[in-house]
Amino acid sequence: MITSPIASFPEPYPGECFGGVALRFWELYGASAPRRFLFQKLNIRLSDITGIPTALARIVERIPSYSETSIDSLLEKHTAWPFYRPFLTDSSLRKAWKKIVQGPKGSMQLTLGDAASRLSIKRGLQICVSCAAIDREIVGRPFFHIEHQLPGVVCCPIHGTELLRNRDVWRVLDRLDVIVDSTSPIPASNDELKLARLASSLLSANLHCIENDLVVGSYLERLRSLNLITKMGRVRYGELQDRVAQTFSQNMLIRIGGAGKDAQNWYHSILFRPDRSHHPVKHLLLIGAIYGTIDAFQGALMQRELVFNTKKDAPPKRDISVDVRRASADTGKSFTQIADELGLSVTTCITHAKRQGMNVPSRPKLLTRDLIRRIGNLAAKGISAKTIANDASISAVTVYRVIRSDRAIEQSWKQAREQVARARHRSIWSKKMGLSTQRGVKALRQRAPATYAWLYRHDRDWLNTHKPIA
Ligand SMILES: [Zn+2]
Repeated sequence: MITSPIASFPEPYPGECFGGVALRFWELYGASAPRRFLFQKLNIRLSDITGIPTALARIVERIPSYSETSIDSLLEKHTAWPFYRPFLTDSSLRKAWKKIVQGPKGSMQLTLGDAASRLSIKRGLQICVSCAAIDREIVGRPFFHIEHQLPGVVCCPIHGTELLRNRDVWRVLDRLDVIVDSTSPIPASNDELKLARLASSLLSANLHCIENDLVVGSYLERLRSLNLITKMGRVRYGELQDRVAQTFSQNMLIRIGGAGKDAQNWYHSILFRPDRSHHPVKHLLLIGAIYGTIDAFQGALMQRELVFNTKKDAPPKRDISVDVRRASADTGKSFTQIADELGLSVTTCITHAKRQGMNVPSRPKLLTRDLIRRIGNLAAKGISAKTIANDASISAVTVYRVIRSDRAIEQSWKQAREQVARARHRSIWSKKMGLSTQRGVKALRQRAPATYAWLYRHDRDWLNTHKPIA
């Protein structure tokens, strides 16, 4: 298992999906094909790119700029987790949470009920051409929005145009600019827009796991007021299904596999099998048909007075301190063992143990004043953290910590590192150019994508004057 720190994992853009961030990491540093590079470096697989990533603790603890709350904020802001979470049962929620934080690696499909849902949901990364144009203006490049990757969604909730789907996830970044430039937006149908907007507001409503009784109770109450339940208490499924089809369209229901008898069973299952988790898209169809909007649905939930307040009821937010104390209570386990068991980093574990007043055996301090000064001097020369770590026989994480603890050192280190990187990328680019004078920029760019990306972002003037004459 690789444990070395990753100093320069890209900062996610607002609303960017985790998969997109990982692909940008490849773009910046990838020396081999993206699938191989991401697997070898971060154990990231296809399902982490197109779905909700798993075993995140292993990745997050290697990124020095991230803290122990980073998994939460990654999940909240950069994955579809807030979309799935509200409708999971307690046990699915716990299972899913464990898999996301701790692993094992692998697709979340089973845990979240995607595979068993009988919905036909296509995988891949999607992009909106109009959003891409805006992103270019704002951050300088198109990127993948989480809002566009929600299951069942094929349309941009803002622009109402069809999303472009790229099934070849591993090569999409290479061609992103070309794809975006060569496509004009196509308006999507009204019902697709409705679903996209419902999905997007479910994502941003940021609901925590809603108690199943509350959800089902609200649904039944609403169905009763719409006269979709008989006096005898039977749900009129046929009429309910018609209402769903009118709200959206038969075509759309066929597309996602929700037409006919099957869908009637979904609604029956949602209403009378609260022990199971049902796919959020099924809930969305129902909510769309009987409430119209997520806001109205949320209002109904609140009216039932079992008010859920995002803070009050956040369930899977576990209390790490308690976990740590419990895990260390019985035996003389080491903190490394406990950390492993709980899917946390050792540092996090020890921080919490100290907070709980537990006795933490301290290690002898290796970091003397002299050593700190030496690290500072080496850093100012732009020497890589790894080399400094080797030289001083300490871990690279410690080196980063020392560098980060002093603004001046950090600044000069960054500048010096940038100079080193500039020299390296310029030389790679020049060499590639010399080898293939016949090729255009595009071909060259494909041969050295990371170098191109670096120069494009940090050294564009130079790049513009160092292009092959095509
Ligand atoms: Zn858009």
